[in-house]
Amino acid sequence: MLRSTLLAASRSEAIRELVERTPLTRPVVKRFISGDDVDAAVATTGEVLADGRYVTLDHLGEDTRDAEQATATVEAYLDLLRRLELAGHTDRAEVSVKLSAVGQFLPVDGEKIALENARRICAAAGAVGTTVTLDMEDHTTTDSTLGILHELRVDFPWVGAVLQAYLRRTEQDCRDLAHAGSRVRLCKGAYKEPASVAFQDKADVDLSYVRCLKVLMAGEGYPMVASHDPRLIAIATELAKDRPRDSYEFQMLYGIRPDEQRRIAAAGHRMRVYVPYGDEWYGYFMRRLAERPANVAFFLRSLITT
Ligand code: FAD
Repeated sequence: MLRSTLLAASRSEAIRELVERTPLTRPVVKRFISGDDVDAAVATTGEVLADGRYVTLDHLGEDTRDAEQATATVEAYLDLLRRLELAGHTDRAEVSVKLSAVGQFLPVDGEKIALENARRICAAAGAVGTTVTLDMEDHTTTDSTLGILHELRVDFPWVGAVLQAYLRRTEQDCRDLAHAGSRVRLCKGAYKEPASVAFQDKADVDLSYVRCLKVLMAGEGYPMVASHDPRLIAIATELAKDRPRDSYEFQMLYGIRPDEQRRIAAAGHRMRVYVPYGDEWYGYFMRRLAERPANVAFFLRSLITT
């Protein structure tokens, strides 16, 4: 109930304005977001890399209906990639891109523009020796995003995809993408989805996650296990025990279970941290609140006591 309300609020302009205008929100937002600009993003990347973890950076923003905004997002990624190269970080830091931030929802030629924009980001990433992963958004975008992935992989075979275990279709998508060279981030899924396309019970989502994990770990691709769930991490570790350590990785979000992130890295596994930055933090922040009621309590408490 709380999750649905928060996810509905994540798409409300009125609530967005209210939350963004409250200065007291800032300290809580800071827990999940590296900072407003590329300087903060590069600094955070340096800190995370220093103790052996890897990074994927997300320039925050989504659902743009404005072509100029989509172009500005591409420029922001190009700038970020230049800065990562200058800092010497591109061997262990890559970028994550939401296609809706680079034009997928534009009313005219949205998919074509998103493909071309993503192509520019991939070319720049390839030129500095790093990779790109396409984030996955709500289920209405899944076919379009996987279609763009296939087009991009013709020139950039290292482009990664995200699959969401809560979607009923995902086990089959895992089979389709468990081939050599294919990088797949498996997560539970963060959007509000109808029962017609997505499992609604947490237990069913977890079971689906394990089925998908088995497909990916048995395949020849590169599974990226994106979860903070201790049970799923234990199962993934067991399924990966006969795989070379450089043939899979774990991933977690910036600000969530950082000690566990360091423990996994110290145990010799690749551990990548998803680091978001920028001032368009509202949708991302609300999805993090929706994932965990304790975060809402933390947020409300800080509003009262700050
Ligand atoms: P949960 O069952 O939600 O959580 C398990 C435990 O983890 C909790 O008990 C708690 O201890 C801890 N935890 C989880 N979430 C939080 C939180 N917000 N704050 C504090 N503690 C928490 N979703 C998409 O739909 N598309 C994407 O492209 C996408 N990319 C992602 C990339 C990465 C690297 C990660 C880690 C997640 C991504 N997600 C994405 C989000 C994902 O779908 C889940 O919503 C999120 O990871 C929570 O699920 P969980 O597997 O951690 O399990």
